Amino acid sequence: MRYNGVIVRVPAKINLQLSVGPLGQDGFHEVTTVFQAISLFDDVTVKVGTTGSGITLTVSGATSHGVPTDESNLAFRAAQIFVERFDITPDIAIHLKKEIPVAGGMAGGSADAAGVIVGIDSLFELGLSRDELERIGAELGSDVPFGICGGIAIGRGRGDEITPALSRGSYFWVIAISNQGLSTPSVYAECDRLRDGLDIARPQVSDAMMQAIRAGDPIALGNAMSNDLQSAACSLRPALRLVLDVGQDYGALGAIVSGSGPSVAFLVESEEKALDLTVALSASGVVGDIARATGPVPGARVISTL
Ligand code: ATP
Repeated sequence: MRYNGVIVRVPAKINLQLSVGPLGQDGFHEVTTVFQAISLFDDVTVKVGTTGSGITLTVSGATSHGVPTDESNLAFRAAQIFVERFDITPDIAIHLKKEIPVAGGMAGGSADAAGVIVGIDSLFELGLSRDELERIGAELGSDVPFGICGGIAIGRGRGDEITPALSRGSYFWVIAISNQGLSTPSVYAECDRLRDGLDIARPQVSDAMMQAIRAGDPIALGNAMSNDLQSAACSLRPALRLVLDVGQDYGALGAIVSGSGPSVAFLVESEEKALDLTVALSASGVVGDIARATGPVPGARVISTL
Protein backbone atom coordinates (compact mmCIF):
# COMPACT_ATOMS: atom_id res chain seq x y z
CA MET A 1 0.00 0.00 0.00
CA ARG A 2 1.67 3.20 -1.19
CA TYR A 3 -0.91 5.73 0.02
CA ASN A 4 -3.20 6.25 3.02
CA GLY A 5 -6.17 7.06 0.84
CA VAL A 6 -7.55 7.77 -2.62
CA ILE A 7 -10.26 10.03 -4.00
CA VAL A 8 -12.38 8.51 -6.74
CA ARG A 9 -14.63 10.63 -8.97
CA VAL A 10 -17.84 8.90 -10.05
CA PRO A 11 -20.38 10.09 -12.64
CA ALA A 12 -24.18 10.16 -12.68
CA LYS A 13 -25.90 8.28 -15.50
CA ILE A 14 -28.82 8.95 -17.73
CA ASN A 15 -30.62 6.31 -19.75
CA LEU A 16 -30.76 7.38 -23.40
CA GLN A 17 -33.06 4.44 -23.98
CA LEU A 18 -34.68 2.16 -21.41
CA SER A 19 -36.64 -0.78 -22.76
CA VAL A 20 -38.43 -2.80 -20.08
CA GLY A 21 -39.62 -6.36 -20.71
CA PRO A 22 -42.50 -8.14 -18.97
CA LEU A 23 -42.42 -8.90 -15.24
CA GLY A 24 -40.49 -12.18 -14.82
CA GLN A 25 -41.27 -15.11 -12.49
CA ASP A 26 -38.49 -13.90 -10.17
CA GLY A 27 -40.23 -10.54 -9.69
CA PHE A 28 -37.70 -8.69 -11.85
CA HIS A 29 -37.97 -7.18 -15.31
CA GLU A 30 -35.48 -7.93 -18.02
CA VAL A 31 -34.27 -4.58 -19.41
CA THR A 32 -32.13 -3.39 -22.27
CA THR A 33 -30.79 0.08 -21.81
CA VAL A 34 -28.31 2.56 -23.25
CA PHE A 35 -26.46 4.41 -20.52
CA GLN A 36 -24.49 7.61 -20.83
CA ALA A 37 -22.27 8.86 -17.99
CA ILE A 38 -22.51 12.65 -17.56
CA SER A 39 -20.43 15.30 -15.82
CA LEU A 40 -22.36 15.42 -12.58
CA PHE A 41 -20.10 13.80 -10.00
CA ASP A 42 -19.79 12.48 -6.47
CA ASP A 43 -16.26 12.32 -5.02
CA VAL A 44 -15.64 9.19 -2.95
CA THR A 45 -12.71 9.21 -0.52
CA VAL A 46 -11.50 5.80 0.69
CA LYS A 47 -8.92 5.85 3.49
CA VAL A 48 -7.43 3.42 5.94
CA GLY A 49 -9.35 4.05 9.18
CA THR A 50 -8.06 4.14 12.72
CA THR A 51 -7.39 0.72 14.27
CA GLY A 52 -10.56 -0.94 15.52
CA SER A 53 -12.94 1.58 13.91
CA GLY A 54 -14.32 -0.90 11.36
CA ILE A 55 -16.03 0.60 8.32
CA THR A 56 -17.15 4.20 8.81
CA LEU A 57 -19.02 6.42 6.37
CA THR A 58 -19.59 10.18 6.39
CA VAL A 59 -21.31 12.40 3.84
CA SER A 60 -21.19 16.04 2.75
CA GLY A 61 -22.15 18.05 -0.33
CA ALA A 62 -25.16 19.66 -1.97
CA THR A 63 -27.30 16.50 -2.15
CA SER A 64 -26.17 14.68 1.00
CA HIS A 65 -29.25 15.49 3.10
CA GLY A 66 -30.87 12.28 4.36
CA VAL A 67 -28.32 9.94 2.77
CA PRO A 68 -27.83 6.98 5.15
CA THR A 69 -24.40 6.46 6.75
CA ASP A 70 -24.95 2.87 7.93
CA GLU A 71 -24.90 -0.40 6.04
CA SER A 72 -28.03 0.54 4.10
CA ASN A 73 -25.69 2.79 2.09
CA LEU A 74 -24.54 0.91 -1.03
CA ALA A 75 -21.02 2.33 -0.65
CA PHE A 76 -20.81 0.87 2.87
CA ARG A 77 -21.93 -2.53 1.56
CA ALA A 78 -19.30 -2.40 -1.18
CA ALA A 79 -16.59 -2.01 1.49
CA GLN A 80 -18.09 -4.89 3.51
CA ILE A 81 -17.72 -7.24 0.53
CA PHE A 82 -14.01 -6.43 0.22
CA VAL A 83 -13.37 -6.82 3.96
CA GLU A 84 -15.08 -10.23 3.90
CA ARG A 85 -13.29 -11.55 0.82
CA PHE A 86 -9.84 -9.99 0.69
CA ASP A 87 -6.92 -9.83 3.05
CA ILE A 88 -7.22 -6.12 3.85
CA THR A 89 -7.67 -4.12 7.03
CA PRO A 90 -11.29 -4.09 8.32
CA ASP A 91 -10.80 -0.41 9.24
CA ILE A 92 -11.91 1.65 6.25
CA ALA A 93 -13.10 5.25 6.35
CA ILE A 94 -15.35 6.33 3.47
CA HIS A 95 -16.42 9.88 2.76
CA LEU A 96 -18.99 10.75 0.07
CA LYS A 97 -19.06 14.30 -1.28
CA LYS A 98 -22.39 14.25 -3.06
CA GLU A 99 -23.56 16.30 -6.01
CA ILE A 100 -25.65 13.64 -7.78
CA PRO A 101 -29.37 13.96 -6.92
CA VAL A 102 -30.64 11.32 -4.48
CA ALA A 103 -33.43 8.99 -5.69
CA GLY A 104 -33.39 10.95 -8.95
CA GLY A 105 -33.03 8.08 -11.42
CA MET A 106 -29.37 9.01 -11.92
CA ALA A 107 -27.85 6.10 -10.00
CA GLY A 108 -26.14 8.18 -7.31
CA GLY A 109 -25.96 5.36 -4.75
CA SER A 110 -24.69 2.96 -7.39
CA ALA A 111 -22.03 5.48 -8.44
CA ASP A 112 -20.80 5.72 -4.84
CA ALA A 113 -20.58 1.92 -4.60
CA ALA A 114 -18.61 1.92 -7.87
CA GLY A 115 -16.30 4.53 -6.31
CA VAL A 116 -15.60 2.37 -3.26
CA ILE A 117 -14.92 -0.68 -5.45
CA VAL A 118 -12.41 1.18 -7.63
CA GLY A 119 -10.99 2.99 -4.58
CA ILE A 120 -10.34 -0.15 -2.51
CA ASP A 121 -8.88 -2.00 -5.51
CA SER A 122 -6.46 0.88 -6.07
CA LEU A 123 -5.62 1.65 -2.40
CA PHE A 124 -4.83 -1.96 -1.50
CA GLU A 125 -3.29 -2.73 -4.92
CA LEU A 126 -5.56 -5.73 -5.43
CA GLY A 127 -5.05 -5.63 -9.19
CA LEU A 128 -8.57 -6.86 -10.05
CA SER A 129 -9.58 -6.78 -13.70
CA ARG A 130 -12.37 -4.52 -14.97
CA ASP A 131 -14.52 -7.63 -15.32
CA GLU A 132 -13.94 -8.71 -11.71
CA LEU A 133 -14.71 -5.21 -10.44
CA GLU A 134 -17.94 -5.11 -12.45
CA ARG A 135 -18.95 -8.54 -11.17
CA ILE A 136 -18.61 -7.38 -7.56
CA GLY A 137 -20.59 -4.29 -8.56
CA ALA A 138 -23.42 -6.41 -9.99
CA GLU A 139 -23.87 -8.11 -6.60
CA LEU A 140 -24.68 -4.71 -5.11
CA GLY A 141 -27.07 -3.30 -7.70
CA SER A 142 -27.87 -3.32 -11.42
CA ASP A 143 -26.45 0.15 -12.10
CA VAL A 144 -23.12 -0.35 -10.30
CA PRO A 145 -21.21 -2.02 -13.18
CA PHE A 146 -21.98 0.94 -15.44
CA GLY A 147 -20.67 3.33 -12.76
CA ILE A 148 -17.32 1.52 -13.13
CA CYS A 149 -17.44 1.41 -16.94
CA GLY A 150 -18.75 4.92 -17.77
CA GLY A 151 -18.86 6.40 -21.29
CA ILE A 152 -21.77 5.06 -23.32
CA ALA A 153 -22.70 1.41 -22.87
CA ILE A 154 -25.51 -1.05 -23.42
CA GLY A 155 -26.87 -2.76 -20.30
CA ARG A 156 -28.72 -6.08 -20.58
CA GLY A 157 -30.25 -8.51 -18.09
CA ARG A 158 -31.09 -6.31 -15.14
CA GLY A 159 -28.97 -3.58 -16.73
CA ASP A 160 -25.84 -5.05 -15.13
CA GLU A 161 -24.41 -6.94 -18.12
CA ILE A 162 -22.47 -4.13 -19.69
CA THR A 163 -21.09 -3.80 -23.22
CA PRO A 164 -19.30 -0.53 -23.97
CA ALA A 165 -20.68 1.08 -27.15
CA LEU A 166 -18.66 2.52 -29.98
CA SER A 167 -19.60 6.16 -29.98
CA ARG A 168 -18.33 9.54 -30.98
CA GLY A 169 -19.15 13.13 -30.15
CA SER A 170 -20.03 14.95 -26.99
CA TYR A 171 -23.50 15.99 -25.89
CA PHE A 172 -24.90 18.91 -23.90
CA TRP A 173 -27.51 18.21 -21.25
CA VAL A 174 -29.76 20.21 -18.98
CA ILE A 175 -31.10 18.24 -16.04
CA ALA A 176 -34.25 19.27 -14.19
CA ILE A 177 -33.94 17.93 -10.66
CA SER A 178 -36.94 17.38 -8.44
CA ASN A 179 -36.68 18.13 -4.73
CA GLN A 180 -38.53 14.93 -3.93
CA GLY A 181 -37.24 11.57 -5.16
CA LEU A 182 -39.21 8.65 -6.63
CA SER A 183 -38.61 5.11 -5.45
CA THR A 184 -37.49 2.79 -8.25
CA PRO A 185 -39.63 -0.22 -7.08
CA SER A 186 -42.78 1.94 -6.95
CA VAL A 187 -42.19 3.16 -10.52
CA TYR A 188 -41.80 -0.44 -11.78
CA ALA A 189 -44.98 -1.41 -9.89
CA GLU A 190 -46.86 1.46 -11.57
CA CYS A 191 -45.46 0.39 -14.95
CA ASP A 192 -46.87 -3.14 -14.37
CA ARG A 193 -50.21 -1.66 -13.36
CA LEU A 194 -50.42 0.48 -16.52
CA ARG A 195 -49.44 -2.52 -18.67
CA ASP A 196 -51.94 -4.91 -17.09
CA GLY A 197 -53.44 -7.18 -19.78
CA LEU A 198 -51.03 -6.01 -22.52
CA ASP A 199 -48.66 -8.34 -24.35
CA ILE A 200 -45.15 -6.96 -23.67
CA ALA A 201 -42.28 -7.77 -26.04
CA ARG A 202 -38.73 -8.63 -24.94
CA PRO A 203 -36.68 -5.48 -24.42
CA GLN A 204 -34.37 -4.20 -27.15
CA VAL A 205 -32.36 -1.19 -28.22
CA SER A 206 -33.63 0.40 -31.44
CA ASP A 207 -31.52 0.54 -34.62
CA ALA A 208 -32.13 4.31 -34.71
CA MET A 209 -30.48 4.65 -31.27
CA MET A 210 -27.46 2.54 -32.25
CA GLN A 211 -26.97 4.53 -35.46
CA ALA A 212 -27.31 7.87 -33.63
CA ILE A 213 -24.63 7.07 -31.05
CA ARG A 214 -22.31 5.55 -33.63
CA ALA A 215 -22.63 8.68 -35.77
CA GLY A 216 -22.46 11.09 -32.81
CA ASP A 217 -25.51 12.85 -34.23
CA PRO A 218 -27.38 14.83 -31.52
CA ILE A 219 -30.48 15.42 -33.67
CA ALA A 220 -30.86 11.71 -34.41
CA LEU A 221 -30.12 10.91 -30.76
CA GLY A 222 -32.80 13.33 -29.55
CA ASN A 223 -35.35 11.64 -31.83
CA ALA A 224 -34.32 8.12 -30.76
CA MET A 225 -34.45 8.64 -26.98
CA SER A 226 -37.17 6.67 -25.20
CA ASN A 227 -37.99 5.36 -21.76
CA ASP A 228 -40.57 2.66 -21.02
CA LEU A 229 -40.78 3.88 -17.41
CA GLN A 230 -41.68 7.44 -18.40
CA SER A 231 -45.48 6.98 -18.37
CA ALA A 232 -45.28 5.31 -14.96
CA ALA A 233 -43.07 8.08 -13.51
CA CYS A 234 -45.46 10.73 -14.95
CA SER A 235 -48.47 8.86 -13.64
CA LEU A 236 -47.01 8.94 -10.10
CA ARG A 237 -45.75 12.52 -10.50
CA PRO A 238 -48.02 14.35 -13.02
CA ALA A 239 -45.95 17.57 -12.69
CA LEU A 240 -43.22 15.82 -14.72
CA ARG A 241 -45.33 16.30 -17.86
CA LEU A 242 -45.20 20.07 -17.34
CA VAL A 243 -41.42 19.91 -17.03
CA LEU A 244 -41.12 17.84 -20.23
CA ASP A 245 -43.42 20.34 -22.02
CA VAL A 246 -41.24 23.33 -21.10
CA GLY A 247 -38.20 21.68 -22.69
CA GLN A 248 -40.11 20.56 -25.77
CA ASP A 249 -41.66 24.03 -26.26
CA TYR A 250 -38.20 25.52 -25.99
CA GLY A 251 -37.02 23.22 -28.78
CA ALA A 252 -34.77 20.78 -26.94
CA LEU A 253 -33.53 18.04 -29.30
CA GLY A 254 -34.81 15.43 -26.87
CA ALA A 255 -36.56 15.34 -23.50
CA ILE A 256 -36.74 12.27 -21.33
CA VAL A 257 -37.33 11.15 -17.76
CA SER A 258 -34.05 9.59 -16.62
CA GLY A 259 -34.44 5.96 -15.52
CA SER A 260 -37.20 5.72 -12.92
CA GLY A 261 -37.20 9.52 -12.55
CA PRO A 262 -37.99 12.07 -11.39
CA SER A 263 -34.94 13.79 -12.95
CA VAL A 264 -35.66 14.94 -16.51
CA ALA A 265 -32.84 15.17 -19.05
CA PHE A 266 -32.96 17.58 -21.98
CA LEU A 267 -30.55 17.24 -24.89
CA VAL A 268 -29.54 20.55 -26.54
CA GLU A 269 -27.16 21.56 -29.36
CA SER A 270 -24.65 23.70 -27.48
CA GLU A 271 -23.54 25.18 -24.19
CA GLU A 272 -25.33 28.40 -25.16
CA LYS A 273 -28.62 26.58 -25.71
CA ALA A 274 -28.12 24.83 -22.38
CA LEU A 275 -27.89 28.22 -20.66
CA ASP A 276 -31.01 29.48 -22.46
CA LEU A 277 -32.99 26.40 -21.49
CA THR A 278 -31.83 26.75 -17.87
CA VAL A 279 -33.27 30.27 -17.84
CA ALA A 280 -36.53 29.09 -19.45
CA LEU A 281 -36.91 26.25 -16.94
CA SER A 282 -36.25 28.54 -13.96
CA ALA A 283 -38.77 31.06 -15.24
CA SER A 284 -41.41 28.34 -15.68
CA GLY A 285 -41.57 27.75 -11.93
CA VAL A 286 -42.20 24.02 -12.42
CA VAL A 287 -38.65 22.83 -11.68
CA GLY A 288 -36.65 22.53 -8.43
CA ASP A 289 -32.92 22.60 -9.15
CA ILE A 290 -31.33 22.66 -12.58
CA ALA A 291 -27.91 21.27 -13.54
CA ARG A 292 -25.97 21.47 -16.79
CA ALA A 293 -23.70 18.64 -17.82
CA THR A 294 -21.86 17.12 -20.76
CA GLY A 295 -21.36 13.51 -21.66
CA PRO A 296 -20.04 10.96 -22.16
CA VAL A 297 -17.45 11.05 -19.36
CA PRO A 298 -15.34 8.18 -17.95
CA GLY A 299 -16.54 5.85 -15.19
CA ALA A 300 -15.19 5.76 -11.62
CA ARG A 301 -11.52 6.81 -11.61
CA VAL A 302 -8.92 7.81 -9.05
CA ILE A 303 -8.35 11.57 -9.24
CA SER A 304 -5.93 11.95 -6.31
CA THR A 305 -4.02 10.09 -3.65
CA LEU A 306 -3.66 11.05 0.01
P1 ATP B 1 -31.33 4.32 -9.64
O1 ATP B 1 -31.36 5.24 -10.80
O2 ATP B 1 -30.15 3.37 -9.63
O3 ATP B 1 -32.61 3.65 -9.30
P2 ATP B 1 -31.55 6.58 -7.91
O4 ATP B 1 -30.62 7.59 -8.46
O5 ATP B 1 -32.99 6.73 -8.24
O6 ATP B 1 -31.02 5.16 -8.35
P3 ATP B 1 -30.16 6.72 -5.41
O7 ATP B 1 -29.70 8.12 -5.41
O8 ATP B 1 -29.15 5.68 -5.68
O9 ATP B 1 -31.41 6.52 -6.37
O10 ATP B 1 -30.85 6.48 -3.99
C1 ATP B 1 -31.98 5.66 -3.76
C2 ATP B 1 -32.10 5.41 -2.25
O11 ATP B 1 -30.98 4.62 -1.86
C3 ATP B 1 -32.03 6.68 -1.42
O12 ATP B 1 -33.32 7.07 -1.06
C4 ATP B 1 -31.16 6.33 -0.23
O13 ATP B 1 -31.90 6.14 0.95
C5 ATP B 1 -30.49 5.01 -0.59
N1 ATP B 1 -29.00 5.09 -0.71
C6 ATP B 1 -28.16 4.10 -0.40
N2 ATP B 1 -26.89 4.45 -0.64
C7 ATP B 1 -26.90 5.71 -1.12
C8 ATP B 1 -25.88 6.62 -1.53
N3 ATP B 1 -24.58 6.28 -1.50
N4 ATP B 1 -26.26 7.82 -2.00
C9 ATP B 1 -27.57 8.14 -2.04
N5 ATP B 1 -28.56 7.34 -1.62
C10 ATP B 1 -28.26 6.12 -1.17
